[in-house]
Amino acid sequence: MTWMRSPSGSSPLSIIASVSRTIEFKTPAQMAIMAKAGVIVERALAAARAAAVAGATTADLDAAAAQVIADAGATSNFYGYHGFPATSCVSVNEEVVHGIPGARVLADGDVVSVDCGAIVDGWHGDSAVSFIVGEPLSHQDVDLVEQTRRSLWAGIAALSTATRLDTVSAAIEDVADAAGLFPLEGYVGHGIGTAMHQAPDVLNYRARGKGARVQPGLCIAIEPMLVIGTGDSEVLDDNWTVVSADGSRAAHWEHSVAVHDKGIWVLTASDGGASGLAPWGVAPVAP
Ligand code: MG
Ligand code: MG
Repeated sequence: MTWMRSPSGSSPLSIIASVSRTIEFKTPAQMAIMAKAGVIVERALAAARAAAVAGATTADLDAAAAQVIADAGATSNFYGYHGFPATSCVSVNEEVVHGIPGARVLADGDVVSVDCGAIVDGWHGDSAVSFIVGEPLSHQDVDLVEQTRRSLWAGIAALSTATRLDTVSAAIEDVADAAGLFPLEGYVGHGIGTAMHQAPDVLNYRARGKGARVQPGLCIAIEPMLVIGTGDSEVLDDNWTVVSADGSRAAHWEHSVAVHDKGIWVLTASDGGASGLAPWGVAPVAP
């Protein structure tokens, strides 16, 4: 799930006020528990994606994810989060993030983003994927999904050598720029650990300031949200669903990543991010 950078949006403002700005640094042992939660999230997302066929409802995807989390003996961190009524966010086409799963029926060519999380022994994981149902309607949709995925891995790769988080933000923005896509404004990644949303903010675009220092113990959810049209958005009357202001399509990819004294490890990937990072010349190291 994403984070709102400034209280200018119309989503629940109490979420912002409730979060400490102190960074929680994790030990390698704590990271190892977070990785357990992370791979359950990876499996839940795979199950949701497998359920995403034409004719399925977004609630079907959510049920598949929820079953994996329950079977693993883990707990959903999305369900009940400030009243959120499901285990995952399922956002379709012009919906960017925080879509509520329900009766919406998927069709071939829909661009679907699923965002999900889990808790194991009090430690959180959070990840998201985007994909196209059946046959794509356009090359533009294919590029949207692929370049958003690529911007995530660019950001994770940048984290491996970054001293401040602005390096990660710049790497994401550069991929978006080159692809002609726009980072959603106002919604950002976040620290993660004993809560789903913690300090620091992880921006998907350059901003004033260098961002938090990157040092061992930092665990963050990096989550580019890229839109074809502009970065402007609106929140629907359900007070959750974020849609692009111009109705253009959007994609969202996310991983939770740990920084430790020997390197980085993608907590929400069973290979630690090895396959995603290989094109960037980075090898993950287990904490
Ligand atoms: Mg998420
Ligand atoms: Mg998140």
